[in-house]
Amino acid sequence: MHTPSLIEKKRDGCRLEDAEIAGLIAAYSSGGVPDYQMSAFAMAVYFSGMSDGETAALTAAMRDSGRVFRWPKGSPPKVDKHSTGGIGDKVSLVLAPLLACDSLWVPMVSGRGLGITGGTLDKLESIPGFNVRLDEAACLRQIEKIGVFMAGQTEDFCPVDKRLYALRDVTATVPSRPLIIASIMSKKLAESLDRLVLDVKFGSGAFMKTREDAELLAAGLAAAGEGNGVRTSFLLSPMDEPLGRCVGNALEVHEAVETLQGNGPDDLVAITLDLAAAVSDSPKDVLARRLHDGSAWRKFLALVEAQGGDPRALESWDRFHPAPVVRPFLASADGVIVKMDAGRIGLAAVQLGAGRHRADDSINPAVGFSGIRKIGEPISKGEPLLWIHASSDTDADTAARAVHIELR
Ligand code: URA
Repeated sequence: MHTPSLIEKKRDGCRLEDAEIAGLIAAYSSGGVPDYQMSAFAMAVYFSGMSDGETAALTAAMRDSGRVFRWPKGSPPKVDKHSTGGIGDKVSLVLAPLLACDSLWVPMVSGRGLGITGGTLDKLESIPGFNVRLDEAACLRQIEKIGVFMAGQTEDFCPVDKRLYALRDVTATVPSRPLIIASIMSKKLAESLDRLVLDVKFGSGAFMKTREDAELLAAGLAAAGEGNGVRTSFLLSPMDEPLGRCVGNALEVHEAVETLQGNGPDDLVAITLDLAAAVSDSPKDVLARRLHDGSAWRKFLALVEAQGGDPRALESWDRFHPAPVVRPFLASADGVIVKMDAGRIGLAAVQLGAGRHRADDSINPAVGFSGIRKIGEPISKGEPLLWIHASSDTDADTAARAVHIELR
């Protein structure tokens, strides 16, 4: 393989063969292709794009740069969902145990929050003792026992994605659809799934700002999944207001617990059931029943205990993660909520300490927002629009200035 010719071919808008893509990624992985050539390749893809076939080949090559899960022969169907990330999106915490109530396996490898969107691992780690660092053998033991694990990526899971993402981050090539698709789907495909459902969000609090962009990304993600033998479907969901009524790690775990106990907010329950039904063997009414009859809750307790978490924390989060300052943000007039900027709420949560600006920042599980009122709800002057949970009065003041909720 002559790397400059391959970069040139992509730069000039030609289609690469699967073998050329696989060769490039294998050479990058083994050190035969340096970062400067890979950066040039990423920029060529940024400008020239890739067909669905090329994207599927890039996805498979990135998946194969590390270990992929090998499941025992005859084991139940493996299913998962991926969300492109939103504000207050705690769906995974509810959906994983819910799906594991079917005889399905849910090998959920999740990420941390970066920027304004939260991450499942950070939420889980607000449960004292919860261990997200499982090796492959521990994952297998647990899934055989209870049908589900929720863990972070190990070092040898899609290692090329980690390196390429870092390069894209400093070469202005993150917003390239084929590169985003290969990055997301290589990690999901390394779970060796049978079925995958994607929740592609759009709006002020999402990576994709318009429905049209979300639709193009969703179609590309699904094509990469199907092109690699995984039954892949997607939902497009708006992210103009936070999902549910809480934003912040421990606060979101608490809301997920309420949902698993049958008392979740309508929007969170609805999207969880829609996503679960897309990969489950059970119809939606059966899934809904499992949120009410204790089955999904018991499965979540089993998951928490299997991964070393303290189940007592689940029902008394304020004792485990009390925020020093908890104060209401009051409506200044009577009206109906007509607009809320989820992006600003997400950013305010990061500033409170619930998220990170850089991958090595630490987070504070206790801070965020609760009791968030929803678009369309009437409100009277002096009633709380939401509650701010902060480390200090100064932080709470900053958050109150950042939040913008429009009444009419
Ligand atoms: N999430 C990923 O994992 N990769 C991207 O490139 C973008 C979002």
